[in-house]
Amino acid sequence: MRPTPPPRTYRVKSFGCQMNVYDGERMAELLAAEGITPAPDGEEADLVVLNTCHIREKAAEKVYSDIGRLRREDGTAPLIAVAGCVAQAEGEEIMARAPSVSMVVGPQAYHRLPGMIADAVEGRRSVDTDMPAETKFDALPARRKVGPSAFLTVQEGCDKFCTYCVVPYTRGAEISRPFSDLVEEAKKLIDAGAREITLLGQNVNAWRDDSNRGLEKLIEALAAMPGLARIRYTTSHPNDMTQGLLEAHRDVPKLMPFLHLPVQSGNDRVLKAMNRSHTVDSYLRILDQVRAARPDIALSGDFIVGFPGETDAEFEDTVKLVEQVGYAQCFSFKYSPRPGTPAATMDGQVPMAVMDERLQRLQAALNASQTAFNQASVGKRCQVLVERRGRYDGQWLGKSPWLQSVHFTGDAAIGDLVEVELVEAGPNSLAGRLV
Ligand code: SF4
Repeated sequence: MRPTPPPRTYRVKSFGCQMNVYDGERMAELLAAEGITPAPDGEEADLVVLNTCHIREKAAEKVYSDIGRLRREDGTAPLIAVAGCVAQAEGEEIMARAPSVSMVVGPQAYHRLPGMIADAVEGRRSVDTDMPAETKFDALPARRKVGPSAFLTVQEGCDKFCTYCVVPYTRGAEISRPFSDLVEEAKKLIDAGAREITLLGQNVNAWRDDSNRGLEKLIEALAAMPGLARIRYTTSHPNDMTQGLLEAHRDVPKLMPFLHLPVQSGNDRVLKAMNRSHTVDSYLRILDQVRAARPDIALSGDFIVGFPGETDAEFEDTVKLVEQVGYAQCFSFKYSPRPGTPAATMDGQVPMAVMDERLQRLQAALNASQTAFNQASVGKRCQVLVERRGRYDGQWLGKSPWLQSVHFTGDAAIGDLVEVELVEAGPNSLAGRLV
């Protein structure tokens, strides 16, 4: 590659989960600390970071088409960095197939981007998919201005090795960030305007400090911080729902009544083949416990339909589970093989048409469940955290304690916690009236 002028503007495009959104924000802050500014809307950036997600359907192919779209009419392109989980999984391959990419950087190494940019300016391409011992978090700049609801990554990686999932390979083994670093970063987020913090991790409830204290200790410490009104956490694994964490749902009012606890299937044989290491029954017992601790808790989950070998009857067990639990929100996906994972080579891959049909059926059950949950909220009064302006004059959008989107009109400002009566429910949002 030829030397190129140092980039003055950047654009970070993040795909996928909230952890990627967080990483995207941190990369933006890192670039800003280097004096590179966000490209104005509608203008091309000198440097584009594609922060990729490996869970997307045909993830790698989409990255190549995203790269292709960055090419200018004269055949040149801006400086391109590919980051995220596809970068981690396919680093060298991306370099070989996409000559316009200057940098490939994995999720554990993106704090090294400034050095890679300096190399790219001199015409050297680089791949960094190390999982370095030094933590990237120590090398990242301080948090800047944030919105009323901010993310804080507390844990990364996964040791669970579900047979369909690439995370243990792309994000590495479970690591927990130190307690004191997290308290420090939370303070900075609050100073920068956050009123709600969502603690993030691939297995957030596997977080432990040096003395083996669990996530509830961090939640309690954050709850004691003036200025912070709400705490959430995601994504959890059923096996890491400890007694202490369940009790936090009872004892910490700032911990919002919402739990995202993926189950993936409602059938024990399928769960075993997925290596989920829990059963339908053990999952339901956890839900009973969390409901006993916090009766108004809203539940959310993830589901995969068409896992290899899943029969019609096994799929029906999943639908039954959905109907039994009554979820407030859910994410459902068709199984799609990830190269290198055990499930990708299992017998009994389910035909696409069958998966399509099952997904439709499951989503109908999930939508009914979500609509029923929202309708049952009508008449309740609750606090809404105002996150942004709505489409109409004087309209505001925010979130209820149960993570429902609520719109209302009246006197408010972004970052306010306002008392609202919920007056009307749709499948995806509710209308509120200022009290
Ligand atoms: S627990 Fe979650 S992140 Fe870990 S392997 Fe299973 S699905 Fe992937």
